[in-house]
Amino acid sequence: MGIRGIPIPSYKYCLSSMVLGRRIYDKIGLDVVRYYPKEVCGVLLGSISGTTGYVKSYVRLKTLEVLDRKFWFDENEWMSAIINGRKRGLEYIGIVHSHPNRSAVPSIEDLERMIECPGEVWLILSYDGSRIEYTAWSVCGYDLMTRRLDVIIN
Ligand SMILES: [Zn+2]
Repeated sequence: MGIRGIPIPSYKYCLSSMVLGRRIYDKIGLDVVRYYPKEVCGVLLGSISGTTGYVKSYVRLKTLEVLDRKFWFDENEWMSAIINGRKRGLEYIGIVHSHPNRSAVPSIEDLERMIECPGEVWLILSYDGSRIEYTAWSVCGYDLMTRRLDVIIN
C-alpha cells in the first residue's frame, strides 16, 4: 500500500491509547499557537507496548499550501522523519496536525487518509486562539472503523 507512490510502514498494531510526555505535548502546543491560524503538522515517534503508543519524539513537517483548506505535508520530509526515527530506535506512531478554528474531529479528508493507512494514529489539536483541545484517532481492523484513542499526558 502506498500514498502517491511512496511506500508506507506496515502496521501490526491497533492502538487504544497514546501516552505523550508533557514536554512533547508542550512542544506541539507551542507550534500550534505559534503558527496559528495556519495548520501545523508533524510526525510522532516512540515505542509501542501492547495497545499503547508512547510518544517520545515529535518532528514538525512543512505544511504545504493546498486548496480548499485540505492540509497536506511534504511526503519526502515525512518519510525522512520516519527513517531517521528508526535509526534512533523509534517506531512510527502517527501524525499530529492542528485544526485552527475547527473542532478536533477528523475531517473527511483526514478520514480518507486514515483509511489508506490503517493503524496510523492521528492526533488532532484544535485551537481557536485561546484554547487547545485534542483528540486521537485511528482506523484499524478489517471493519475500517474509526476508533478514538485515550490520550494520556504525563
Ligand atoms: Zn484534519
